[in-house]
This record gives sequence, structure tokens and C-alpha cells, in this order.
Amino acid sequence: NRRIVLAARPRGLPVPEDFRLEQVEVPEPADGQVLLRTAFLSLDPYMRNLMDEVGPVYAPRVELGAPMVGATVSRVIASRHPRFREGELVLGNAGWQDFALSDGSDLLAVDGIDPPSLALGGLGMTGFTAYVGLLDIGAPKPGDTVVVAAASGAVGAVVGQIARLKGARVVGICGGEEKCRYVVDELGFDACLDRHEPELAARLAVACPDGIDVYFENVGGEVFDAVLPLLNIGARVPVCGIIAHYNDRTLRDGPDRLPLLQSTLLQKRIRMQGFVILDHYAERFEAFRRDMLVWLRDRQVLLREDRVDGLEKAPAAFIGLLQGRNFGKLLVRVAET
Ligand code: NDP
Repeated sequence: NRRIVLAARPRGLPVPEDFRLEQVEVPEPADGQVLLRTAFLSLDPYMRNLMDEVGPVYAPRVELGAPMVGATVSRVIASRHPRFREGELVLGNAGWQDFALSDGSDLLAVDGIDPPSLALGGLGMTGFTAYVGLLDIGAPKPGDTVVVAAASGAVGAVVGQIARLKGARVVGICGGEEKCRYVVDELGFDACLDRHEPELAARLAVACPDGIDVYFENVGGEVFDAVLPLLNIGARVPVCGIIAHYNDRTLRDGPDRLPLLQSTLLQKRIRMQGFVILDHYAERFEAFRRDMLVWLRDRQVLLREDRVDGLEKAPAAFIGLLQGRNFGKLLVRVAET
């Protein structure tokens, strides 16, 4: 039974030494528990925040020496719980390890989802994040211009495709020509800009001749600087993530642009709203699943997974995620399903 624990709190971008692979005994389920074997582990940007000692977080931090947390698709291999039977596949939170115990309260059956890893991506947390953030906060109307960065990633790719289905014009931003080509040619975005090329602000202005009505914020940083002057009166900005800053250790040096931000929000009556997807399951998950299953069946939404084989590869893959090396929803295949 292997597990990967937090060995040190990262200083900036995590390094392999911040993680440690350990061997421990396979635990025995007590009455009311199940023993899970991890099949797929989801790697997600929020994990970086949970590695820090300070800063706002919306889930418990990872303690030093404790296993890294994470959502998994797992096989029930022993059950002393009335609701779960051996052999069943479940969505759970086993973290970065081969085996884990659960009392069942956090488990959901993964019925009929093929491949089951979609329960962690397009039919799970990241697809749901795109759906709620775009539709409930972004509220795109036909003809609106929607901009999203990390556009080939787990959330961004779904945001752009749903926005297209709602009749918006969609401009993506991502890292590299190959991702841009995929987003336009395969996913049907209207345009896509490479964030590594110079003059992003000028290129974005050309790509959005009618300004921006919805900016789905995944990254912050230079992308937000380029977006801000293009926002239209009444624009909506769902604030989903600011991955460009997750490795920051201090506030960045000035000039202080907070007044520019506030005056733009005021003058242009912009609504900028943060959200945490955990809050929305009770109200919105059913509608999301229903719509997404139809879109997938009709191939109106395409999903791309970036699968890494082997638990031991999780640290490197996660560090890569924070640098844009993933291409699609990042998952680790820990064992055969
Ligand atoms: P992705 O699959 O999009 O992977 C992360 C991507 O972020 C990278 O591939 C890279 O794309 C981009 N990126 C990395 N570093 C930078 C940088 N310095 N500047 C700009 N872009 C960068 O991840 P997810 O789809 O899982 O997550 C996307 C965002 O959504 C994250 O901010 C995440 O924290 C947030 N999120 C928020 C949730 C919520 O409840 N609020 C729930 C789920 C996700 P590229 O190189 O192509 O630009």
C-alpha cells in the first residue's frame, strides 16, 4: 500500500522533495466501513492551496506528513457497510494512495459512467464547475462575447463549449499553439490566443472587437490585465480560480491597480462573483448531469483527459499542472478499473 504524503510546505512552485512516497499496511475495515482501492486519482489546482500554512482555503489544509487529499474513483474491495457491496466502483476521496477506508458518507456510486474517470472530470467536479460558473453567474446571452483562459483544460474547455451552445462567441486563451488549435478546430471556439506569445492585450482586443460580456476567470495574472479594459458595461466575471497566483508567496509589487479595478467595476456596472463548487451540489448537480449527458451523447461537448500511469508519477504531474503541462483533465491511473 503506497501513499504520497506532504513532506514539506512548498516555497513557490512545489518541487518533488515536497512529496514523499511511503509504504504502509493495507488498513482493515471496521464495522460500518469499506476498504477502497484507488483506480483513478484526480489532480486539481486547488490542492496547491491546501499545501500552504496560510491563506484562504475552502477545505481543510493537508498536514505535514499526512497523505495528499484528492477525489478518486475507487473499487470497493471489502465492505462492512450495508449500502456498498464488494466490487462496486464509487466516487470518493481516497487521496494520493492505493488503499483507503471510508465510512460511506462521502461515497457515491459510479453507475453507468463510461469511462468511469469521467465522474472526476466532465461528468463530475470540473464539468459541474464550468456549468454553474458560466450559466448561473456568467449568464451568457446569444451574441455575447465570452472569454475563458486555461481554455483546453478541464474547466475551461467545458465553459467554452457550453457558451457556444448558448449562442455566444467564444475566445479562448491557452498555453501553446497545439492547445489553441485543438480548442478552435475540435471544440469549435471562435478564436484562441497563445498566452506565451507577446502582446496578449493587443491581440485580445483584436479578437474581441465588440468587447467582452463574460470573462470566466480561471487564471488571473497577465490574462486579467488584458481582459479588464475590454469588459463591456454590465459584464459578468465568475471568479473560479486564479492559478497564475497559487505559487505566489507575497503580494506582487505595484503600481497599485486596485483603484483601476474598482473604478472599472463601478463605471461599467460589472458583476464579479467568486464561487466554490462545493456549495452548489444540492441545488444544481442533477440539472448539470442531465444536460451534460445529452451534450456528450450528441457530441455537442467533447472531453479530453490527460492520463498519467502510476501513483508515483502524481507529484511530477501535479507540478506540471501548475505550469500548464497538462492537456485536458489531469488524472492518475493508479490501478486497473
Ligand atoms: P486545468 O485543466 O485548466 O489545468 C490548469 C491550467 O492552468 C494549465 O493547464 C494552464 O493552462 C493554466 N495555467 C497554469 N499556470 C498558469 C499561469 N501562470 N497563467 C495562466 N494560466 C496558467 O485545471 P482545471 O480546469 O482543473 O482548473 C482551472 C481553474 O479552475 C483553476 O484556477 C482552478 O483552481 C479552478 N477551479 C475552481 C473551482 C471552484 O470551485 N471555484 C473548482 C475547480 C477548479 P495553459 O498553459 O493552457 O494556459
